[in-house]
Amino acid sequence: MKVAIIGAGFGGMAAAYDLRKAGYEVTIFEAADFVGGLASGFKEPHWDWTVEKFYHHWFASDKHMLGLIEELGLSDDVIFPRPYTVLLHDGEWYPFDSIIKALLFPGLGFGLNKIRFGLVGLYLRLTNNWKPLEKVTVDEWMRKWAGEEVYQQMWQPLVIGKFGPYYKDVNMAWMWARLKARTTKLGTFKGGFQAFADRFAEILRDQSVEIRLGARVESIKREQDGLSVGGEKFDKVLVTTSPNLMAKLCPELPESFLKGLLELKSMGAVVMALLLKQQLSEKGYYWFNLPKGEGFPFLALVEHTNFVSPEHFDGDHILYAGDYLVPGHEYFSLSNDELLERFAPAFKRINPEFELDWVKKTWVFKTNYAQPVPLVNHSKNIPDIKTPVEGLYFASMSQVYPWDRGTNFAVEIGRKAAKLMQK
Ligand SMILES: Cc1cc2nc3c(=O)[nH]c(=O)nc-3n(C[C@H](O)[C@H](O)[C@H](O)COP(=O)(O)OP(=O)(O)OC[C@H]3O[C@@H](n4cnc5c(N)ncnc54)[C@H](O)[C@@H]3O)c2cc1C
Repeated sequence: MKVAIIGAGFGGMAAAYDLRKAGYEVTIFEAADFVGGLASGFKEPHWDWTVEKFYHHWFASDKHMLGLIEELGLSDDVIFPRPYTVLLHDGEWYPFDSIIKALLFPGLGFGLNKIRFGLVGLYLRLTNNWKPLEKVTVDEWMRKWAGEEVYQQMWQPLVIGKFGPYYKDVNMAWMWARLKARTTKLGTFKGGFQAFADRFAEILRDQSVEIRLGARVESIKREQDGLSVGGEKFDKVLVTTSPNLMAKLCPELPESFLKGLLELKSMGAVVMALLLKQQLSEKGYYWFNLPKGEGFPFLALVEHTNFVSPEHFDGDHILYAGDYLVPGHEYFSLSNDELLERFAPAFKRINPEFELDWVKKTWVFKTNYAQPVPLVNHSKNIPDIKTPVEGLYFASMSQVYPWDRGTNFAVEIGRKAAKLMQK
């Protein structure tokens, strides 16, 4: 039985692994000339480690990813350093990555607000009943249960930052999933996510999976006894691209399925990675939660080398500044220098000593498909993995709901698709 997989991200590779183990002949078509998809990385010749294009880490609860890594015999290369996540209050940064730190955070005072914040957090961590939560928005639910002040200070900045114009429409199950599935312990792979993706691809190749790089698929057509991918015949095909691309690849899908794919909303992302000759956060903070209202020109500020050692990058420091944006936002069309000009004043707010000459190099990475937007009653919008076209399957970030997208859930859905394809 011949199977084609479109996309060599972690979803596609995980599916290939299981299908090959089950005896299928597997070919992966990957448009880029590297594996790893959205979690891929890059490397300067004199660095020992790669750096992800978009900041990435694992949570200690990422059981699908960590389980796969164990099966592959690579667990010794997973590390969990102890980085600091901080939150801004009155111009000061406060560590905010444990229950104790959250309780000590002065932003909510030490009275009723703190208690409401704690109780809401506890409830969301303990309940498994997410279905009723998808019927309401984060905005409505949090205002009611956490209270206006707690919502505005703690939760609203997060939803605004992630979903911009859609923030009032995002359902509460999304917030539940975030709190449920995340830990304060953060992990990575020795050598970076790209090192892991390359090792995984090597294992797949050793098992006779064919991975074709630079092989963009333009269309998938139904044939009498199978499917044709660029003129080549396969019994089954799994697509792991965005819903939009899936609709373009296979216009033969029924009208209602295509409409469902095209109606799914998502945010894009623009992320600048900077190589600095000095550390930006002298206190060694890794992840800065930046409230939109504080006027930062980006949502995410992440000093990667406060998570992994700068020694892997010849002693230099890696910083990310990025944002989730609607496709077409002006950041998508600015040059690196123009973007740096917008971003640089904000770096001085973290470290007043910062000067532009600290910046040795910049890279800017853009994607239109970075973060699916889950609306109220979203479960009824999720396309089935098995599509109405015989032998055609679809597994993307938009279908891991109620979980938020992440490599852990890419592995889970890839393996789920592989199982369905064997039926
Ligand atoms: C800013 C940002 C931060 C993130 N942070 C984290 C994090 O900290 N931790 C975490 O676990 N996850 C994180 N993620 C999410 C994670 O990157 C994704 O969930 C995961 O990589 C998705 O894997 P996938 O295989 O489903 O899709 P993708 O990685 O998107 O793979 C799809 C592949 O299909 C290929 N493709 C597309 N069209 C075609 C075509 N026509 N022909 C052939 N190939 C094609 C693409 O090139 C790509 O390689 C982050 C994502 C972003 C954008």
